[in-house]
Amino acid sequence: MSVSENLQRIRREIDEACARCGRPAGSVQLLAVSKFHPQEAVLEAIAAGQTCFGENRVQESVEKFPAVLADHPDVSLHLIGSLQRNKVKNIVPYASCIQSVDRYELAQEIIKQRRKLLDAGTKMPASLRLLFEVHTGEESKSGFTDTAELQRTIELCRDAADAGIVCAGFMTMAPNTDDESLIRNSFRSLRQLSEQLRTLYPDLPLNELSMGMSGDFTIAIEEGSTMVRIGTAIFGQRNYA
Ligand SMILES: *Cc1c(COP(=O)(O)O)cnc(C)c1O
Repeated sequence: MSVSENLQRIRREIDEACARCGRPAGSVQLLAVSKFHPQEAVLEAIAAGQTCFGENRVQESVEKFPAVLADHPDVSLHLIGSLQRNKVKNIVPYASCIQSVDRYELAQEIIKQRRKLLDAGTKMPASLRLLFEVHTGEESKSGFTDTAELQRTIELCRDAADAGIVCAGFMTMAPNTDDESLIRNSFRSLRQLSEQLRTLYPDLPLNELSMGMSGDFTIAIEEGSTMVRIGTAIFGQRNYA
């Protein structure tokens, strides 16, 4: 199957999942995860109407995306993988969303680099949306585990609105298991936490719930996902060699 056929099928499956649980069509955004796939695959997806892409490594992102973004102003890049502090400065000029904000020090560095680039007049996306990654499943290593630290981080980012930083919501990865109830519990706990935090910070647009991948996105949609991150089902198996 081609990338274009896969995209059509996934978009249909998303719509069907929405219909099954009474959610409006178009309430779930599709992020195409292009990690380990070449720029040609990204261009094929763009030709099929896809505009949002996710990458999990800074180095690969900056090899693949600057030219794509320059040629296609409507395309946006999300960083979804764990991010080292010393790589932040390389991704901030290109990403419109960082979904893997998982500790206070990382948020500090993102804000610092964004301010630096603004002061230097560097061309970059008008705003930088941040999603706070939360640890909800036994197997995942990343994500906040401590709600107090998460709140401290949200408050830090809230105070950087003048630098175009937007506190946009939350992300999680469910455990990699066949046990559907564990997956569902993981998504449900993110949704519950997000509801608590939205009550606590009514002034912030913390609406995004990024959850669901190729193997579990229909469960995630049933549990309230607003963005699914799909790689394999669009681009095929990744070759890690
Ligand atoms: C790779 C990756 C995905 C996509 O996974 P697939 O199973 O290929 O759909 C989603 N989210 C994150 C954080 C990833 O690293």
